[in-house]
This record gives sequence, structure tokens and C-alpha cells, in this order.
Amino acid sequence: MSHATPLDIILWEFDQIAQIPRPSHHEEKIGKYLADWARERGLSVTCDELGDVIIDKPAAPGCEGSPRVILQAHMDMVCVAAKGVAFDPLRDPIKVVSDGKVLRAEGTSLGADDGIGIALCLYVLQDETLRHGPLRVIFTVNEEDGMSSVDMPAQYLDGDYLINLDWEWLGSLCNSAAGCDFIRLSRTAARIPAADGDVTLEVTLKGLQGGHSGVGINLGRANALVCMASALSRLTEADIPVKIAAFSGGQAKNAIPAAAQAAVLVPSDLAQKAVHLLAAYEQDFVSAFGEKEPGYVYAVRQGDAAATGLDTDVSNALLALLTSLPNGVNTMSPFVSSLVESSQNLGLLTVGPEEIVLEAMERSCVNYRAEEILRASRQIAEALGFTYTQGDHAPAWGVNPHSRLVPVTCAVYKEISGADMVVEPVHGGLECGAFYEKNPKLDMIAIGPSLTGVHSPDETCDIDSVRITAELIVKVLERLI
Ligand SMILES: [Zn+2]
Repeated sequence: MSHATPLDIILWEFDQIAQIPRPSHHEEKIGKYLADWARERGLSVTCDELGDVIIDKPAAPGCEGSPRVILQAHMDMVCVAAKGVAFDPLRDPIKVVSDGKVLRAEGTSLGADDGIGIALCLYVLQDETLRHGPLRVIFTVNEEDGMSSVDMPAQYLDGDYLINLDWEWLGSLCNSAAGCDFIRLSRTAARIPAADGDVTLEVTLKGLQGGHSGVGINLGRANALVCMASALSRLTEADIPVKIAAFSGGQAKNAIPAAAQAAVLVPSDLAQKAVHLLAAYEQDFVSAFGEKEPGYVYAVRQGDAAATGLDTDVSNALLALLTSLPNGVNTMSPFVSSLVESSQNLGLLTVGPEEIVLEAMERSCVNYRAEEILRASRQIAEALGFTYTQGDHAPAWGVNPHSRLVPVTCAVYKEISGADMVVEPVHGGLECGAFYEKNPKLDMIAIGPSLTGVHSPDETCDIDSVRITAELIVKVLERLI
């Protein structure tokens, strides 16, 4: 490909990567492909025990003493197929289609998150005309489902600068990300039989916007679980004894629940009143969320008789839990306008035959606020008879006020495009948090070409933004010599 442009090379490499199935937790094939790719070119390759691939490219002649720059991208992708499309994420390649302006995939997610980041790295590794100091490329496993980089051995992060290529908008640069904690609240589901004459009422709330629990948490969207609990609490507040027969909702810990459904047992002489109170909730929902939730569907109806329900005390405790726990935005940053500093998302609820489980995710860029949310959650849970368990933790990446990489990248971007680069912290997670914990001296940014609809079959990648991102990386590397 001697006459190929950098963009041609990147798109060709991306096409090759797209042939290799690589859902999270299944990165062996792509890892081997990348390690072989580098060995064939005489580059030094190491694989750590997680499966991360670390490739070193020597400095250009005369630049041996320059700072070491690490370029980094993740190997896994979120594989999603459109309705009706047969797709086996473990076997089937992604079919990339291009109209000359935009890349997309036929019927599935594209995997430009983060395959285009990998392709950009492969370009930098193979172009021998580039001028840069010692260069390391790190390809990580399992970013999308648990952020495995928190366990990466620190020795591989020995460098001065790190450019993460898992950002989705050219023209913006990320300089800080939130950390997160997963929590699980559980309690034995003490069930009792329905009393004679109990009436079962079914309540449904669906069609909400939902969305990402990090970057979407401040958009004023309704959490279906919390709304459902608010509706049902009206019964207990009116002294109607409630036995929850069923209650579930949410799709993932890190997504705002878009739907919830519940069934409650109430005494027959109070059923009319209960239906009336539950129906009246709709008006309040609309006044609180109206324009934000145009597609909502709320319905109350008498259902098939449930045989058992949680006893009234446990039912009340569950409703109190859902309406009292911190949910949504907790604090806004006092330093960066419109940045959410801390939040929590009550993401998944199941009321099983034996156990009630609520799973939530807290995010914060300040440890103090994380502790505040976790402490409140634990105290509320324990006071209501639930067991509190803290799960996985991903560290935050704070703003580095002394960064050299940020101003250098902004200056180069301005030279290339004439536009000012937006520097923005994000209320979502990035692997930079894990790297920061291992090597606090790393000066880091996240950049990348413009993607839309990631993690969905509508994912696209803007081709011209790939070209500009490559130019940006090349010139920043040169400037850091
Ligand atoms: Zn990503």
C-alpha cells in the first residue's frame, strides 16, 4: 500500500479488525491478531495475564531521549444486532459499509468504539516516517463490561503521556472522568399467602427515555423504579395495607430504568380507593416529567389474583428504600459549570421468590462525594432491613491543572482546523481512571473521531474526523519530542 494515504491505511486496518469477533470477555482472537501483527513488523510485544497487548515502537532516530507517549484503545466491543438480524457475536464478522462520508455496519453495532482507536494506533505503529519519542501502544481487554484495566500491572503504564482513543467527538478533548461503585441491596423475600378477598392490582410504567446513567443522568429523565415506588407509596400513606406480589424493572445497572411493572395485593374493601390513588399519580408524573417523557405509558388495572405477596412490613420497607436512596444527580461541580460531580442510578430491581435485589451504580469525580452517597445508601438500606454489599470499583480521573498535553493538543487542533478544542470532563467512566491510580504522573487526555449511536445498531463513524484525528495524533507526537 505504498501510495495509500494515512486514512486509507486506517480504514483498511479497521476493516481487518471488524472481521474478528470481539465481544467483551472474548478478546483472545483479536489479542492474538494484534500481537502477531506487531511481531511481523519486528515490534516488541508483551501480553499481560489479563490478555492486554502492549507494543513498543522505538523512537525515531535522534528522539531516543524524548518522553515516552502511550497510545491506548480497548479491544472489546458491545455487539448489538438490529431486530430480526441473525448475528452471533462470537462467530460473525461485522460487515462494514461506507458511503464515503460515514462508516456503519450492516444490521449490527459497528465497533468503531473502540476499533477505530485500534486502527489509528496500527497506523502510527507502521508509518516509519513519523517523528516521535519512544512510543508504547496498549490494547486493553474488557472495557465495556467491568473495566478490567483496574487490574493491569502498573509496570506497563510507565510513561510520561497517555492518549486514550476512546472518545467519541472530534473537536472535544476529555481531561477528567468520574469513578464509579456498584452496590447491591438485598433482603429475604418473606412471602405470605393472599388473604381472602384480596384484590390484585397491576401497575405498569413504560416507554420512558432511559439512557446512560452517567452522561444522561442530568437530563431530567424519570427513573421508572423510583416512579413506581412513589405511586405505590401513596397507598401506604393512605393507610392501605399493601402486599407486593411482583415488582421489577431496569435493564442494566448503568442504564436509567425505562420501564417497571408491579402487582400489589390490597384488601377488597379498599381496592376502589387504591385504584383511584394510583390513577391520580399519573397527573403528578406528567407535571414533573411531562416534556421529558413524551412516550410514557402508565396503566393501572385489576390483574389475575396473585397467590402470595411480600408481607406488609417488607413491602413498606422496599417502597421506602426506593423512594429514600440517593437517585439521580447528587451534586454539581462547584468548579466546572454544568458538570455533574456525583450521582447514583438505581438500575435493576428483582423481587424473586426468595430474595429482593436492588442494584445501583454510584458515580463521582470526587471521592468525598462517593463516600457520602455510599454511606447514605448503606445507612438507609440497613435501617430498612436490607443487606448492603459494595461491588466493583473504578477509580476517578481528576483534572491535572499542570497538564502539558492538554494545551499542546488544543494548539495543534487549532492549527489543523482553525477551531478551538473544547476541553471537557465527563460524568462517565474512562480507563484513564484506572491508569491514573497505577501511575499518577501520567499526563493524559482522551480524544477520538466523531461517533454516533455507539452500543447500538445505529452506530456510525465520521470518516473525515478519522483523517483529522490521525493528523492530530501525529502532530501532537511530534510536538512532544
Ligand atoms: Zn469505548
